[in-house]
Amino acid sequence: MLEIEEAQQRILSAVKPLAGAVTVLSAAAGRIVAQSVVSAVDLPLFDNSAMDGYAVKAADTSKASATNSVTLRLIGRVAAGDVFSGEVTAGTCVRLFTGSPMPSGADAVVMQEDTRLDPAQPDLVWFLESAKPWENVRFKGEDIKRGTLLAATGDRLTFGRISVLAATGCTEVAVPRQPVIGLIATGSELREAGQPLSPGAIYESNRASLAALVSQTGAKPKVYPLVKDCLSATRELLEQAIAECDAVVTSGGVSVGEFDFVKDAFQTMGGQIAFWKVAIKPGRPFVFGHWRDKLLFGLPGNPVSALVTYLLLVRPALLRMQGATELHLPKYPGVLAETLTNRGNRRHYMRVEIDANGRVSSAGIQASHFLSSLARANGLVDVPPQSVLNAGELVSVLRWD
Ligand code: AMP
Ligand code: MG
Repeated sequence: MLEIEEAQQRILSAVKPLAGAVTVLSAAAGRIVAQSVVSAVDLPLFDNSAMDGYAVKAADTSKASATNSVTLRLIGRVAAGDVFSGEVTAGTCVRLFTGSPMPSGADAVVMQEDTRLDPAQPDLVWFLESAKPWENVRFKGEDIKRGTLLAATGDRLTFGRISVLAATGCTEVAVPRQPVIGLIATGSELREAGQPLSPGAIYESNRASLAALVSQTGAKPKVYPLVKDCLSATRELLEQAIAECDAVVTSGGVSVGEFDFVKDAFQTMGGQIAFWKVAIKPGRPFVFGHWRDKLLFGLPGNPVSALVTYLLLVRPALLRMQGATELHLPKYPGVLAETLTNRGNRRHYMRVEIDANGRVSSAGIQASHFLSSLARANGLVDVPPQSVLNAGELVSVLRWD
C-alpha cells in the first residue's frame, strides 16, 4: 500500500497546470495570481500628516512646553484631499488632518491635543509641546516603493493583498481559468436533504462540505445528482462529469464490497486507475485515476474519510492545477494536552483541536463515522503506526481553519 507522501507525489506529478490566464478584478479573493504584479506607484503617494494637528517648522516649537507655550500664526487649512498652495514660513502654521498632504516649508506636525485655540484670536495657535523634525509625518514611498512586488505568481489573493492592490490603483490581475471540479456522491442509501427518509436511508453530506472546500482553493465546484450503487448509472454519470469538468471527485463506492462500483465504472469508460489504497486512517480505499488529461479522485464515503483524503490528496492537486505555490495544509507546532494513541498499522490522522496557546487535544471519538469530532476539530495530527504520542510532546498540527 502507498504511503501518503508517495500518493501525493504521484498525484502531483499527474497534474498539469491549466493553460492560459484570464483577467479578473484584483478583488477576486482566493484566486491564485498567474502573473506577478508590481506597484505602479509609491505608497504613501505623497508626504502626509499622521495626525489631526498643525504643520510647523519644528525649530519654531523647540522651546514650547505646557508652562511656556509658543504662539504661531495660522495661515491655512488643508482638509484630506486638498493641497496648500502657500508655504509654511518661520512663525506660521497650517491646520492639517490625518492624510492631508504636507505643505511645503513645514517639517513636522504637532498633534491637536498639544495645542490650544482662543476663539477671540482665530488666526493664532498656542503650542504646548515641541516637535522633533519630521515628527508625525508619513513619508512618500516609506511603505511601498514604485516597482515593489505586490503579488508573485502562485500567491493567493488574500484580503491583505487585495487591500494593497487597491491602494496602488491596480484594478485587474491575471489568474488561471477556474478549474471546474465535479462532485458525485454514490450510494443507494443516500437522500437529498429535505427529502423524506425511508428506512435505512441517510442524508447525503459529502457534496456540501466538499463544494465549500473546493471553492476555497479558487476552483469551481459542480454538483451532480446522487447516483445509486449500480455500475451502468455510475458509469453514465462519471462519463458526463469527466466530459464537463477538469477533474471529478466521487465519494463512496471505492471499497471491496459488491456494491462498490466507482473503479469498475471508471475503467469501463476507458479510465486508468493509477493507484488504489493509501496506508492512512481514515481513508485507506482512496483511488486515483485519469481519463486522458482529466483526473478522478475517488474518496471513501464516510464523511470523515472523505474530508481527510480530500485535504491530504485532492486539495494539493487543485492548487497545483491553478499554479499555486503553497500546496499543502499549513503545519502549526503545538503541545499535546493529552496522549494520542495509534494501535493500528497505518498512520492515523487524528482530528484535534488546537487552541490559541498551541495546546492540542483530541476533538473526540476518532471513529470515521463520528461527525461531532469533525465539527469540533480544526486540524489533524499524523500519529505514526503503533505509537503513543504523550501529553506534553511537541506535535505538528495540519490546520484547515
Ligand atoms: P462507502 O464508502 O460507500 O462504503 O460508504 C461508507 C459509509 O459512508 C457508509 O456508511 C455510507 O452510508 C456512508 N456514506 C457514503 N457516502 C456518503 C455521503 N455522500 N454522505 C453521507 N454518508 C455517506
Ligand atoms: Mg457506498
